[in-house]
Amino acid sequence: MWRVGMSEEIGKALQAVVDRVRQAAARRPQTLPLVSPRLVAVSKTKPPEMVIEAYRQGQRNFGENYVNELVEKASNPQILSSCPEIKWHFIGHLQKNNVNKLLGVPNLFMVETVDSVKLADRINSSWQRLRAANSQQLKIMVQINTSGEDSKHGLPPEETVSTVKHIVSQCPALHFMGLMTIGRYGYDLSQGPNPDFQMLLSCRQEVCDNLQLPIEEVELSMGMSTDFEHAIEVGSTNVRVGSTIFGERDYPNTPSPEKRRVVVDEEAAGKLQHLTVKEQ
Ligand SMILES: *Cc1c(COP(=O)(O)O)cnc(C)c1O
Repeated sequence: MWRVGMSEEIGKALQAVVDRVRQAAARRPQTLPLVSPRLVAVSKTKPPEMVIEAYRQGQRNFGENYVNELVEKASNPQILSSCPEIKWHFIGHLQKNNVNKLLGVPNLFMVETVDSVKLADRINSSWQRLRAANSQQLKIMVQINTSGEDSKHGLPPEETVSTVKHIVSQCPALHFMGLMTIGRYGYDLSQGPNPDFQMLLSCRQEVCDNLQLPIEEVELSMGMSTDFEHAIEVGSTNVRVGSTIFGERDYPNTPSPEKRRVVVDEEAAGKLQHLTVKEQ
């Protein structure tokens, strides 16, 4: 998987994305909070060498969507020694029985996919137990299913306020950072602003109104390879970009292009546990 010349390719691709992020941020209307968007480089299915190379080029935030793959990469001895300041984001579907495993990940920075009160409670109590020694809160985001598709995880938008309220008042080990969505694939931007992103913006407005939180303190994680610039232009503060930095992902068990499209769809919905198990 690692070829000669790859480090140069990653460096160039990463720099191009960093520039595009900066330019998109400069195009935002003045009404949006002036936070510089965080670029999360999504390294799922890619080897540790690529993570190390991107880190060497200055990238610090990385995202993975399977617990086992994240555990493996974050504990990789080369990554541990070459990337002391790495920040891992978990962006996949989290099952309660995997919480302890996830929370043991070295350099875990943020869990972006909390999608129920029960899951929040479980993460809260596990973090209290595991990290009792250091009193640092764990940063989390609440995932919203803005498109309402069955294949997507996340809370229905109307449960956003009550869930965030619960986390803020009942989960002292968690630091509520904002809202996250994946959204529908292949939205055609010539039709106007992406409705998933607009939905996430209105969920944030509701949260801020109801909980008296300043808008610049509630982040929005939205935007991927195909739409991160648009996402930033409408207010994303955290974009998750994989293939544009690291190249297309190979899935060994996906023979035809049609199957592959389905797989990629499901994958981001966190439904491909069985494929990753086979890969490992
Ligand atoms: C894979 C993935 C991404 C990155 O997708 P690209 O299209 O490769 O940029 C972003 N977010 C989530 C939740 C993902 O699973």
